[in-house]
Amino acid sequence: MITLKSYVRGEFRVGAADGNVTLVNPATEEAIATTSTKGIDFHGALTYARDVGSPALRAMTFAQRGELLKQMSKSLHEVRDALIEASVQNAGTTRSDSKFDIDGATGTLAYYAELGRKLGDAKILVEGAGEQLTRGARFWGKHVQTPRTGVAVHINAFNFPAWGLAEKAAVALLAGMPIVSKPATSTALATFRVMERLVESKVLPDGALQLICGSVGDMLSHMQSQDVLAFTGGGSTGAQLRGLQNVIDRSVRVNVEADSLNSAILGRDVEVGSDTWQMFLRDVVKEMTQKTGQKCTATRRIFVPSDRMDDVQSEIAARLAETKVGDPSLDEVRMGPLATAQQLRDFRAGIAALVESGAKIVHGSPTEVNAIGVAPGKGFFVAPMLLRADKPFDAHRVHELEVFGPSATLMPYSKDEDVVALVAKGEGSLVASLYSDDRAVLETIVLGIASQSGRVLLGSAKVADQAIAPGLVLPSCVHGGPGRAGGGEELGGERGLSFYMQRTAVQGDRALLDKLLPSAVAEAAKP
Ligand code: NAP
Repeated sequence: MITLKSYVRGEFRVGAADGNVTLVNPATEEAIATTSTKGIDFHGALTYARDVGSPALRAMTFAQRGELLKQMSKSLHEVRDALIEASVQNAGTTRSDSKFDIDGATGTLAYYAELGRKLGDAKILVEGAGEQLTRGARFWGKHVQTPRTGVAVHINAFNFPAWGLAEKAAVALLAGMPIVSKPATSTALATFRVMERLVESKVLPDGALQLICGSVGDMLSHMQSQDVLAFTGGGSTGAQLRGLQNVIDRSVRVNVEADSLNSAILGRDVEVGSDTWQMFLRDVVKEMTQKTGQKCTATRRIFVPSDRMDDVQSEIAARLAETKVGDPSLDEVRMGPLATAQQLRDFRAGIAALVESGAKIVHGSPTEVNAIGVAPGKGFFVAPMLLRADKPFDAHRVHELEVFGPSATLMPYSKDEDVVALVAKGEGSLVASLYSDDRAVLETIVLGIASQSGRVLLGSAKVADQAIAPGLVLPSCVHGGPGRAGGGEELGGERGLSFYMQRTAVQGDRALLDKLLPSAVAEAAKP
């Protein structure tokens, strides 16, 4: 049995045993680790980050911070196999799904390392040449962004133990902010291994990254006005954290990535068997089954023209039937278990709620699964499930409830305007994908759904052999979405830095500003 430790104030620390939480292997239900944060000085962790980590990071140029990220990426890549093993064991992900998490982590760090190199010797961002502010040509204004002098608290969901830490850390560190990161307790083993490796390889300055393996106790009540809080997880938790009195009183900047009813739309023009048709089916099945459907970007709603419903249903069902479920460490297995017993209960309850709302199950069962290589009755396994709702405007829960597992609901539409309205019933999503080779169809639907979506992927014959599936979050594109999806935005290359920096309009003599910026503000950003 492994005892996870938190990394706080420059040391690994173990919480009191009477606060222990047990982590299990979701394929066998065996206990594999315990963790406790009882007695850990959360207030001290925040102070340490502000007093020690922040000055060290702010004194560095973007290129130097980028170099840190490069070393982090390299160091983690060197222990890739051990991290994959930890993920298989604790998150129940197949080797392929574990790689998706681990390689996503190192890839995002490497991307932001390169961005740091490009931003070079500056320590702050100066936005453009500025503007004349009065009738006289001399009085000038420029916008600059300087790192916030507080600490970034990162709270992550259970489904990406490595990428969750890395994608937020890459952006915060490049912007010049230190981090206290908290993975979801149930799958924290891989995150703990990540932290062990980073500490062992001494790639980061003291105080730049701390880790809490377990509950954060009263930590959020100690946050201050220069601090930021970035959260990924369930919508209700996000709303609760956003509403904390201290967070409101101190105007702590908050970013929330929450639930999302992502859509895949088959255009009316797409012929059965065409390249675009094949791309649509490939993506839908991948998004339903990858990581056992436990991705915030997984497809939950599939909209197809009414006269294609039966064809699409039988194609998806046939592919789902080929998905081998079972022990994630076996090579032939394509889909592991859900991550926890609670996720299994939620999944079954969610399917029941969708059925009650008018959807019917057309493939799979919420209680029966043929899981290979596992002891009978053990593990949190489910079969991939396809549902169908023939009256999509009436099936309200299908547009409201994110069933976090391998399931999606197929729905018909007749007019492009209808599918736009149906997507909007989800009240904001992280991603939508649209498959069509007809410009008019694309224009109506893309412009119709863009305001409801953080990202839109257009699948067409021209990109069928090149495009990635819609669930893959790239560091160069924004990740986030309006409304139910949390209203937040992460990543997006340089755009992501702004969350960790304060934008200030500096006004004065143009010649002075031209000389002083960025150099003088860079000096001011020094501790
Ligand atoms: P969750 O229960 O909301 O937990 C998310 C994180 O918040 C965990 O680290 C959890 O810690 C922590 N947490 C819970 N209550 C807290 C509190 N009062 N104070 C401080 N931290 C608290 O969600 P989950 O079960 O991990 O993830 C499932 C949901 O997340 C899914 O339903 C999905 O919709 C959503 N999700 C969204 C995205 C996205 O990018 N939009 C990505 C992944 C998942 P403990 O584990 O210690 O409780």
